[in-house]
Amino acid sequence: MRIAVIGGGPGGLYFAYLWKRRHPDAQIDLFEQNAAGATWGFGVVFSEQALEFLRADDPDTVDAIAPRMESWKNITLNLRGESVEIDGIGFSSIGRLDLLRTLQQRASSVGVIMRYDTPIQSVDQLAGYDLIVAADGLNSLVRRSFEDDFGTSLSYSANKFAWYGTTKRFETLSQTFVQTELGAFNAHHYRYSPSMSTFLVECDLATWQRYGFAEKTIEESQTICEGVFAATLEGHPLASNKSVWRNFPWIWNERWSFKNMVLIGDSLHSAHFSIGSGTRLAIEDAIALAKALEAERDISAGLDRYQSERQPIVKKLVTAARTSADWYDKFPEHMKLGLMDFAYSYITRSGRIDDARLRAMSPAFMARYEASRRPLEQGGSQR
Ligand SMILES: Cc1cc2nc3c(=O)[nH]c(=O)nc-3n(C[C@H](O)[C@H](O)[C@H](O)COP(=O)(O)OP(=O)(O)OC[C@H]3O[C@@H](n4cnc5c(N)ncnc54)[C@H](O)[C@@H]3O)c2cc1C
Repeated sequence: MRIAVIGGGPGGLYFAYLWKRRHPDAQIDLFEQNAAGATWGFGVVFSEQALEFLRADDPDTVDAIAPRMESWKNITLNLRGESVEIDGIGFSSIGRLDLLRTLQQRASSVGVIMRYDTPIQSVDQLAGYDLIVAADGLNSLVRRSFEDDFGTSLSYSANKFAWYGTTKRFETLSQTFVQTELGAFNAHHYRYSPSMSTFLVECDLATWQRYGFAEKTIEESQTICEGVFAATLEGHPLASNKSVWRNFPWIWNERWSFKNMVLIGDSLHSAHFSIGSGTRLAIEDAIALAKALEAERDISAGLDRYQSERQPIVKKLVTAARTSADWYDKFPEHMKLGLMDFAYSYITRSGRIDDARLRAMSPAFMARYEASRRPLEQGGSQR
């Protein structure tokens, strides 16, 4: 079988590696528009299990990546200078470039042909391939070329965000909420290597307009954000990598394949960065696609199986991501709560965690939260 993979992000690289490893006779050509060492963004997070979901099928890849990851057990919420830790919500992280380099080495070791600096301008360039795997990200050329056939929907969150890095090392994944005279900001920040952290800044549209960010250069915006989060950064600068202000795009496709083309990862669906699952979803899509193709005799049946088996799982996660993003869309309102109520509102934002589960998962936090409620329940004062 001849397969073209468009996109050298986590989804494309992992699919190419996986298929070639299991089918050494197949020809897999991967096309990436950028150079091998180029990437946007800084680090990415995974929930506590990190890449353990890969271990059963692919222990070598997990062993290659796991030692390079940072991990921690708690989340820290900072609200107007006060802090609270929520225990038991572990995450792991890795630099995006580090992850891509490891996946590139693995793909190359099994014989995938990787063509960097090679943008695909039209799917007609790929005539003759049996299968085209569109792992070409949020702005997918394949998806945009056949939107009606894929049943694509696209909308945007109202909040603005910019993805920075910083040399300041944070002990846990942290969320810092800051009120300024012109409006409210939030930063999602966590270390992804011993010496670097991701620092993603978010604000609502009204705040963004009051700051006049539309007219500011990347450098001017960065300087303003350094000022807003001066107490958090403690003198460390922000680092930029195409760190423009963006609105989070919500992408969904009713049909996951058309003719011999199939969507995986961000080209297919987006999951808000607040749940830290986009990279994992892209890798899991790649695995699901490979398994579905192997389970059927012909490609078309394999593509149908990929959608029918994987779509319900992805739908659940995307729904959770939307609920989480809704909370962030209203974060200036939530900031009016006292610290403990704010933290409780944050951690229950998906609507899927009840108090009993929270007590088991985050006993220290829940003890503090429930203690903070007691005076109120006894007719006492504010939390
Ligand atoms: C601000 C922000 C923060 C995020 N934080 C996290 C996080 O903490 N944890 C997490 O898991 N995920 C996070 N994500 C999401 C994560 O980055 C993506 O979900 C993940 O990278 C998707 O992988 P992918 O392989 O589908 O696409 P991508 O990683 O986007 O890769 C697509 C590749 O295709 C290439 N390409 C595109 N068009 C063409 C073309 N025509 N020809 C050739 N090449 C092409 C691109 O250059 C790119 O390399 C975040 C995303 C954003 C925007």
